[in-house]
Amino acid sequence: MRKKLLEQIDRLKAAGASYVDARWYPVEEANQLVMWNGNLKSAASSRESGVGVRVLFRGAWGFSAASDLGNLSALFEKALDNARVAAQRVSFPVRLAEKEPVRASFRSPNRIDPFSVPLAEKIAFLKELDGELNQPGVTQRICDLTFMRKQIVYLDSEGSEIEKQIIEVFPGIQVMGLDAQGEAHSRKFSPSLSGATRGWESLDPGLFSENAQRIVREMNQVRLAESCPKDRRSVILLPGIMYLQTHETIGHALELDRILGYELAYAGGSFVKLEDFGTLRYGSAKLTARANATLPNSPGSFGYDDDGVPAQDNLLIDQGLLVGAVTGRQMVQEANARAGKTIFRGSSGANRATSFYRVPIERMTNINIDPGPDGTLDDIVRNTERGIILDGDKSWSIGSNREQFHFATDIGWLVEDGQVTRVVKNATYLGDTVTFYNSLSAVGDQSTWEVRSVDNCGKGQPNQIMQLGHGIPVCRFDAVTIGE
Ligand SMILES: [Zn+2]
Repeated sequence: MRKKLLEQIDRLKAAGASYVDARWYPVEEANQLVMWNGNLKSAASSRESGVGVRVLFRGAWGFSAASDLGNLSALFEKALDNARVAAQRVSFPVRLAEKEPVRASFRSPNRIDPFSVPLAEKIAFLKELDGELNQPGVTQRICDLTFMRKQIVYLDSEGSEIEKQIIEVFPGIQVMGLDAQGEAHSRKFSPSLSGATRGWESLDPGLFSENAQRIVREMNQVRLAESCPKDRRSVILLPGIMYLQTHETIGHALELDRILGYELAYAGGSFVKLEDFGTLRYGSAKLTARANATLPNSPGSFGYDDDGVPAQDNLLIDQGLLVGAVTGRQMVQEANARAGKTIFRGSSGANRATSFYRVPIERMTNINIDPGPDGTLDDIVRNTERGIILDGDKSWSIGSNREQFHFATDIGWLVEDGQVTRVVKNATYLGDTVTFYNSLSAVGDQSTWEVRSVDNCGKGQPNQIMQLGHGIPVCRFDAVTIGE
């Protein structure tokens, strides 16, 4: 198959294409199980295979994909035809940032392939989790397991040959209950990626049991609590909400295709302008954010992106100053040309497609916040006069250019004079992105740092779902509006 694909790549080059790549997925499968109040509500499996071909002809892309590999020649021809047509009306001819050809392979760290585990064993695991959650006050119990496996062979006309084997496991548990007014409240848990692997073996029943007890206890506290006051105070965001804050207002805002105006769906614009790189104080000096696709264990670590560019660890925000973006090979060239200077030295290795039948676009890798000098969570609480600790992503609303946000969380704990006083329900906070990050006044140390995974980041039209991670410490922001 590789030989046949390389023959086609050569043939299109000879026909005038300036660049060709092919992504062959011998197999891509997914399996999702959801148990709801002890019943198996969903047990879905999918399995696909196919090839996607990208062709660059006179500065324009053409793409085609197929599951039927019986006529590769027609598949490649279609991609070239599409590029030929597009070349007649291209406003900014595509150029690709330089890269070194790579011959390599990548395997995500796993011991036990979850697709080799019998369904009965998976259901028994869910049943066990469900039993842990079945306690007074709980009206809804949800346990879910999602497994993914992708084998990808990447070949391009510049000499790269990359093979990837990626397995993902996304487990989660959630409880809901009603307060005296009949309003629903929820607490959930999914493990941080602290272990060395993420195969079936990463599902630790002891860890789930411990956290099942905790989320039931906390949900019951929320049910009986008073509402979050309307106030302005410090917010201490735990990784269970800070990961989403980072995702929505740093990660998506710094995708270079969005900054260039190519992606406007799903609050797809960005307030960031090309002239902001190197000048915008995105946050206080305590804020250092990076796109690190080299974390040993995370869905945002994939070895090589779908441009064939190796995974990198790049600064996005350096002690508050905006310095980098999430980029592939194409947008870098266009951004530099539009700015009339070299802002970006090359691809940041962040061009990814959800599958063989979609074109790669700028996607977050692991968008992380570096741990800071302000100690443990207890240390930060002790040094907070009037605050609220927040955790759990309940709902969120983001400005269309990521310039403002409003988040509701599953739980809040008020802090007065360095002490946690009481739990509140319906906790919310809001802000303007740049003002908010400039109010960052404390960043927790490594003990507070967790890698949270995201299994369903949506972007693009047609929509592409992508998996990634966020390495996040506890962060405190001052003078934030809450309870509105
Ligand atoms: Zn997203």
